[in-house]
Amino acid sequence: MNKTKSMGMYIHIPFCMTKCKYCDFLSFPCDEPTKRIYVDSLKREILAWGNIYGLGGENRNISTIFIGGGTPSYLDSNLIFEIMKCVRNNFYIDENAEITIECNPGTLNLLKLSDFKSCGINRLSIGLQSANDNELKAIGRIHSFTQFKESFLDARTAGFDNINIDLMTALPYQTLDSLSNTLDTVIELNPEHISAYSLILEEHTPLYDYINLGHANILPDENIDREMYYLTKEKLLSAGYERYEISNYSKPNYASRHNLSYWNRTDYLGVGLGASSFIDNVRYKNEENISAYLLLLDKNFDDNHDGNVSKLKREITTLNLNDSMEEFMFLGLRKESGISISEFSRSFNKDIFDVYGNVLDKYSKMNLLNINNGNIKLTAAGFDVSNTIFCDFLLD
Ligand code: SF4
Repeated sequence: MNKTKSMGMYIHIPFCMTKCKYCDFLSFPCDEPTKRIYVDSLKREILAWGNIYGLGGENRNISTIFIGGGTPSYLDSNLIFEIMKCVRNNFYIDENAEITIECNPGTLNLLKLSDFKSCGINRLSIGLQSANDNELKAIGRIHSFTQFKESFLDARTAGFDNINIDLMTALPYQTLDSLSNTLDTVIELNPEHISAYSLILEEHTPLYDYINLGHANILPDENIDREMYYLTKEKLLSAGYERYEISNYSKPNYASRHNLSYWNRTDYLGVGLGASSFIDNVRYKNEENISAYLLLLDKNFDDNHDGNVSKLKREITTLNLNDSMEEFMFLGLRKESGISISEFSRSFNKDIFDVYGNVLDKYSKMNLLNINNGNIKLTAAGFDVSNTIFCDFLLD
């Protein structure tokens, strides 16, 4: 079998039981018939891409799959099973592929988790955000900590030995003490991976409106937010986790290969409503309107016709050399391991110091960047001001 390149696959399930108060992701509640129709459309899309990149075309290796959302675990397991079967029928999946599904407590039980396991899913990413029920309520999560814990233990019983727990900092009413308690509680459960992102208040969300009605005092201030970041890092490192990206920690050898592919700029195909792809240096984004998406992929959809599937791709950006070099720098420097100087020259046929000499010199003199052994990475102080540093890698 002539397997050319490998690629990741992202499958978007845009449904959630209810909308969290801080959420501006492409997700919404839906009824059962809509789930059925959506999965049928998704399968048509997967089949069509299979004719281009999969078994009917370039025959790329699928090295990682991430079923994300939304809340994919809001679907019955038979629908997830159908999606996985469709991917297998149309793509070659690596034997040791990392296959993750995002789940939320309140949509899980032991039977469903066992079904996920038996259709080849080998990694779970469970949204907890906080172990404090008042904080969960303030951000509109559908579950309590107790429900999360039951789901986590069920996942272990179902045989999952690679689990991520999502946490958030800078939540309404959160204090350093309550965060410390959340971290201790989660560490005690011993998951293989923990992501910890700071809450970003997005416009057009109920939480944003509430805060702007004069309730800013329920949020930790910027200084506390910073201390929360340090506290998270300190506690997770001393509990044996390695930080491999600004907000992602794992036990040794459990870094998410799918996440790393985004920061390493390797190819991935996104399927489903609003899903993004990066293939052969071109970034695409799928149709974001659910009615338009379902209409494009209705039963009259001709999956053998390339022109048809390409109608799904709404935003298409072909990266020029400068775009690619910028991305290489600011995505790569998010990783604790940083970037390789020789990989830069291999990828772009340019010496990194000819392109970025001044910026690299400036930040290494400020001890915010380390240049060592053919590698460039941010120092601990550099990570603290990473956004400012990343801006300096933008080229004209
Ligand atoms: S579960 Fe996630 S995707 Fe769904 S509404 Fe909440 S934050 Fe948004």
